[in-house]
Amino acid sequence: ISDFGVKNEPVLEYLKGSKERKELEEALKKTSATTEDVPIVIGDKEYKTDDARYQVYPHNHKKKLAKFYYADKKLVNKAIDVAVETQKKWDRTPIPERLKIWEKAASLMANEYRQTLNAATMLGQAKTVIQAEIDSAAELIDFFRLNAYFLKEATKYQPISENPKVTKNSMRYRGIDGFIAAVSPFNFTAIGGNLAYTPALMGNAILWKPSDTALLSNWTIFKICREAGVPPGVVNFVPADGPVFGDTITASKYLAGINFTGSVPTFTRLWTQVGQNINKYINFPRLIGECGGKNYHFVHPSADVTSVVNATIRSAFEFCGQKCSACSRMYVPESLWPKIKEGLLETRSKLKIGEPTDYESFTSAVIDDKAFKRISGYIDHAKSSSNLEIIGGGKYDDSTGYFIEPTIVVTKDPKDKIMTEEIFGPVLSIYVYKDNKLEETVGLVGTSTAFALTGAIFAQDEKWLRYAIEELKMTAGNFYVNDKSTGSVVGQQPFGGARLSGTNDKAGGPHYVLRWGNPQAVKETF
Ligand code: GLU
Repeated sequence: ISDFGVKNEPVLEYLKGSKERKELEEALKKTSATTEDVPIVIGDKEYKTDDARYQVYPHNHKKKLAKFYYADKKLVNKAIDVAVETQKKWDRTPIPERLKIWEKAASLMANEYRQTLNAATMLGQAKTVIQAEIDSAAELIDFFRLNAYFLKEATKYQPISENPKVTKNSMRYRGIDGFIAAVSPFNFTAIGGNLAYTPALMGNAILWKPSDTALLSNWTIFKICREAGVPPGVVNFVPADGPVFGDTITASKYLAGINFTGSVPTFTRLWTQVGQNINKYINFPRLIGECGGKNYHFVHPSADVTSVVNATIRSAFEFCGQKCSACSRMYVPESLWPKIKEGLLETRSKLKIGEPTDYESFTSAVIDDKAFKRISGYIDHAKSSSNLEIIGGGKYDDSTGYFIEPTIVVTKDPKDKIMTEEIFGPVLSIYVYKDNKLEETVGLVGTSTAFALTGAIFAQDEKWLRYAIEELKMTAGNFYVNDKSTGSVVGQQPFGGARLSGTNDKAGGPHYVLRWGNPQAVKETF
């Protein structure tokens, strides 16, 4: 399939004097003037509990962007009741009507609210303008438009009826009775939109637990979708403490599925709880999870140095490496190392780390205190280990915002934890291999970590490329040849990995929406 019949939303450039830049400036001003008070929304009712929390600006953590409230167990249970009831009606809404609502939502996101979404993402998640635009504008809009398109195309399929006058066979595409819990991360605003709204498009009702650190951007999506016509109760906005939410949803017999992006331990915990409660449920809950990676750039001696350097800097350090797909381990042949080293260090030294609203910034702060401590812990490990050498960066400072320099570490040990554990921050680890140990080093890629999300190989040698593509087949769900390991586009590179990286259900692919369906095959005899 190459022609999906719909186009990706263009990424705007925000050049000086442009209309979009002016609109963004206004939205930033408006968003930063207040601390928005965000309620829990269940059905058509808003709630505020005693457990108030704040979303702060990562680059200036004394400043509050939004106030929000944690739902307690009782409210989560209320949301379950409302979702279960709503699902019965919502599932009867004809698919063409639902498609229209999704199209309307995409249009509101692309036009009226584009800059409100970008401003919330820039200030709340510390994304630079371009990183926000590819996420809370282009990718989010693509998820709404393309999933609607994929559903429309899928429902065209009807089974064979040999003699329709006597026997008619058909397929009804339904949602699952019960509710789906969507648990979304901070790093992509668009992922929250996809996790909560694609199962809803299929006829399901949702409890959406957004990330505390993406609260305002996710709330903006929720409001837009209500305005577009998503009825109350179809998606319920339920910020909550992770374990309280997890314990409550998995204890309900109506749990029909979990749509998750986050860490391996959290997904494992949810899965275990579902297993323990398996005899309770009216459905086998569907579990879809995307859980991170330890993504690689593998360089062959025939590679083009300039493209390796540019791709690696972008993949490892854009948005401070806080993409599940970010390159965080690199294998470089000794013969190319001097040139690659020089290129990486020179480019790294030119990167501006500043406020997300500064158009010159390449990156800003990491998301929160927890991330700051975890990432700086790996940098400390590099400082204290004799096998490791920091050749660029290495400084961190959280006095104003959670700032960490893009850091490059060279390791003598390809199995050091810096080469095998997910760091989720701006730390690139490099292992320089002897050219005559090429095959052995390729072998290390798949055996030294438990993840298999993204990977990239760089070479001009055609024969080796064919060999490596086959050899590394199981090491990445998204695989790139002579390009960076990040930047998948909805409908172009369906996204997801295997092994501990997740269930590989390919967000942004044509089958994702169908994973939330509960089709009925009907045979009518006349
Ligand atoms: N799809 C994104 C990319 O390829 C990454 C998504 C994620 O971080 O979960 O860059």
